[in-house]
Amino acid sequence: MQPLFDAHSHLGGAPASGVGRRVLCGTRESDWEGVLAAAAADPGVIPMLGLHPWFVAGAAAGWESRLEALLRTHPAGVGECGLDFSQQDADRSAQATALRTQLGLARTLGRPVALHAVRAWGPLLTLLRAAGPLPRGMVHAYSGSPETARELQALGLWLSFSAARLEAHGPAAQASLLAVTGDRLLLESDGQADLAEVLPSLARHGGEDPALLAARTWENGLQCFREVLA
Ligand SMILES: [Zn+2]
Repeated sequence: MQPLFDAHSHLGGAPASGVGRRVLCGTRESDWEGVLAAAAADPGVIPMLGLHPWFVAGAAAGWESRLEALLRTHPAGVGECGLDFSQQDADRSAQATALRTQLGLARTLGRPVALHAVRAWGPLLTLLRAAGPLPRGMVHAYSGSPETARELQALGLWLSFSAARLEAHGPAAQASLLAVTGDRLLLESDGQADLAEVLPSLARHGGEDPALLAARTWENGLQCFREVLA
């Protein structure tokens, strides 16, 4: 059977059936060693080290250089990082600075990047366009509009969909799913769902055969993360 490519998960997620490759994202400094250990123990794990926007405010000074040192000594990607303006008191400029730093590391080291964005699509597009040449990368748990999906693909990014989001947001999420071209689509458990269980419903949303969807998103995952595949 075609193995599945889970484009986004976290430490502590339940082991999933049928998943051949799993992108495992660190979200803060205390995660990084655990992510690297999980990857060392399982060749199917693709490690990513980053500072998530939720944890920017609490990050210890000097995190950037410690992240860079780990990236230079391990074949890991960068993320998850991004912008999340869902909280009123989010420090938007600190989040943007942390994201720019991580995009710069990914570009310098030639690593893929995993992006998180919530209620920040306009600022994200502006920041990405101003950031210069972008590394390979993906936006996880895509929740934006079909128009934004097209803009992000034009920047060369892959877009990943979670089953939970498609179920919860119905037609709006489905319209965005349909705006993603075949070679840019990824699927993810986000550590919350069993990808094998939800594949049929994801396929139905996209009007596609589950086996073909599994094969296509496997190939896309290998492309997006090719710089850090074991
Ligand atoms: Zn995540």
